[in-house]
Amino acid sequence: MMKFLHDICRNESIALNCISKEKLREMKSRGGFALGKGEDKRIFVDENIWGWEACHIIAHEVGHVLMGHLDSSEVSDDRKEQEARYFAGALMALMVFHQYYNN
Ligand SMILES: [Zn+2]
Repeated sequence: MMKFLHDICRNESIALNCISKEKLREMKSRGGFALGKGEDKRIFVDENIWGWEACHIIAHEVGHVLMGHLDSSEVSDDRKEQEARYFAGALMALMVFHQYYNN
């Protein structure tokens, strides 16, 4: 499942990074966040979180990146969060489905 997310990040030139809880707190974030402008896109995820939970955080942040949230101020933050949640839900469903049929 993680390979699927790594492939998306590689294809979309999104750098995937681990980050400490302390740094996350400094960024006023829990779990992870995405930032970047134009071609420089980065996702940071809590280095202490693993497995499906990490996948869900990354999927959510990939949603923010792919839906153009990093470059757009026209859409409200609430709307962006809702869209990223839907995106992560759909992506997680695909990953569960994929894993189910490949095991
Ligand atoms: Zn979000």
